[in-house]
Amino acid sequence: MAARSFRTEAVVLRSLRLGEADRIVHLASLEHGRIGAVARGIRKTTSKFGGRLEPLSHVELELTRGRGELHTVTGVQLLASHQRSRDDSYRLSVGLVGAEAVLKLFPEEEANQRAFQALTRFLDLLDDLPRPTTADGTPLPGDRAAFEPLVLSLQLKLLWVAGYLPHLESCAECGAAGPLGGFSARIGGAVCAQHAAGALPLSPDGLQGMQALLRAPLADANRVGLTDRGARDCHAVVTASYEFNGGFRLRSATQG
Ligand SMILES: [Zn+2]
Repeated sequence: MAARSFRTEAVVLRSLRLGEADRIVHLASLEHGRIGAVARGIRKTTSKFGGRLEPLSHVELELTRGRGELHTVTGVQLLASHQRSRDDSYRLSVGLVGAEAVLKLFPEEEANQRAFQALTRFLDLLDDLPRPTTADGTPLPGDRAAFEPLVLSLQLKLLWVAGYLPHLESCAECGAAGPLGGFSARIGGAVCAQHAAGALPLSPDGLQGMQALLRAPLADANRVGLTDRGARDCHAVVTASYEFNGGFRLRSATQG
């Protein structure tokens, strides 16, 4: 018989209000993949959980197994609060894009150690991430979060870990070496002009930028020389891939 209570290392991806005083937290966990849990009384000022279950918090949890899909949180220990990321609007936006990527691509209660490690590494780097600036040092507006090289790098690595690494070396349909001017999520990679019907346009900056981000560790994402055009293309490729593959995984996860 499975033990009623268990411990796991986890990251809070999302937190939703439940009734007067409770919250439901959606978590990526090291040992069990995606789990959901109720934190009772967390919105009371006297809560023993305090501010330890905020989105992006990296925690060690004690849980009691529920009968349905939701477990109950019985204890929380902070491993890394990532308060520095929540206190800055740009970093928080980048962090939530990363959390959303994990929610989309890893919906099952199934451990994926490499995905979890990529997420925690990303959050550690996020705490010190500077806001992008213009040449004279003026901070750019926070709506650029989706084009941040660090989060584009995480999203590409998660596709890789999930088994959906885009094929970028030659046309994913016919194998032609190039030129490759499009990207098709359905075919699973870059495509030549002949197979570009319905594909997204893909610039040389976008193609090279993605290859460089996939080769470099997360910590070097800001040093691969991603151009604005490259970042826009990469964002479009990532969005299309997550919609196509994430939707597929959600459909298969909810069957049966
Ligand atoms: Zn082709």
